[in-house]
Amino acid sequence: MTNPLSVMVFTDLDGTLIDHDTYRWDAAQEALTALKRISAAVVLASSKTAAEIGALRSELGLEGWPAIVENGAGILSPHGTTAQHGAQYDAVRSALETLPSALRECFRGFGDMTADQLVEMTGLALPQAKLAQQRAYSEPGQWLGTAQQQADFLACLLEHGVTAQQGGRFLTLSFGGNKADKLLKIVQTYQPQHTIALGDAPNDIQMLENVDFGIVVANPHRAPLPVLKGEARGQILRTKEAGPVGWNTAVLQLLDRLHMK
Ligand SMILES: [Mg+2]
Repeated sequence: MTNPLSVMVFTDLDGTLIDHDTYRWDAAQEALTALKRISAAVVLASSKTAAEIGALRSELGLEGWPAIVENGAGILSPHGTTAQHGAQYDAVRSALETLPSALRECFRGFGDMTADQLVEMTGLALPQAKLAQQRAYSEPGQWLGTAQQQADFLACLLEHGVTAQQGGRFLTLSFGGNKADKLLKIVQTYQPQHTIALGDAPNDIQMLENVDFGIVVANPHRAPLPVLKGEARGQILRTKEAGPVGWNTAVLQLLDRLHMK
């Protein structure tokens, strides 16, 4: 009989495990090593594509665990292949093209840009930008209009069944599914003793509220998240430091508290 899985960590990437500006994660190395030592699972959960997450997952030595891709629209299986293009993505793009041009022009999606333009907007390296354009389920983009225009835009898209989630940087359009749905599915499969989630943005809230310990990683680039369910009783923690530095400190402290280091 295999030993039960002690800890399963779900983590957002951009602004959480990965620095908002430099896209580096090495400041979290110590905590990642500590997790590896206790054979903990680390599940990457991001608006990024399977192609992007697959590359990072290999770099981090986490190929043995599933990953939540495109904001929870899909799951990349352990050791799963990563090059994907999907019909759901094409349907989201088609819905966008039905909008009045005044609203359509407020949204600049990844599919509206060349790889070079995406590099310019995101600061990603060109190979990473190309991976970000290999989409199967959802369309992230920059919002260029007003709040009122966004409300009209979303109402029109909803008629096509398309919904939106606001991430740390992009508005992501899809036919639904979120990080928390997929988290619960993965937890059911692996049955870990403890669950931890880390995130920095509104699209991480449900994930943070559906684990034993949710860690809000500080992101000075955006307004802080509101007080979350369970925060008063200590189930939600907040880091002082941003990105991977905060990630590292919080995970090490929590492992200490759980007597798992
Ligand atoms: Mg984020």
